[in-house]
Amino acid sequence: MNPFDRGRRGGPPANPLNTSPRGVDRVEDWPDGDWTVRMLAGGASGKLYRCPGCEQDVRSNVPHIVSWPTIPGGEEERRHWHTACWRKRLDRGPGRTRY
Ligand SMILES: [Zn+2]
Repeated sequence: MNPFDRGRRGGPPANPLNTSPRGVDRVEDWPDGDWTVRMLAGGASGKLYRCPGCEQDVRSNVPHIVSWPTIPGGEEERRHWHTACWRKRLDRGPGRTRY
């Protein structure tokens, strides 16, 4: 029962070129698997994303995180997070999966 609908909204796919160049990614080892994490410095023009952690807007012009699971096709599941929400995402209680 995922309340987030996994982001399949039928819109255009996320632009894979709208973030920083490769080389700043790192892989983090979480209890639910390895995740690629990219720190975004902010400054991009006014896009809004939905943080899966707190369900509030993430503005692309402030520093935040993009992460996705290091599985085949994982980049299709990229999500923008507030940095703090990413750090405490496992505190949201049992039974949650990725989002
Ligand atoms: Zn958040």
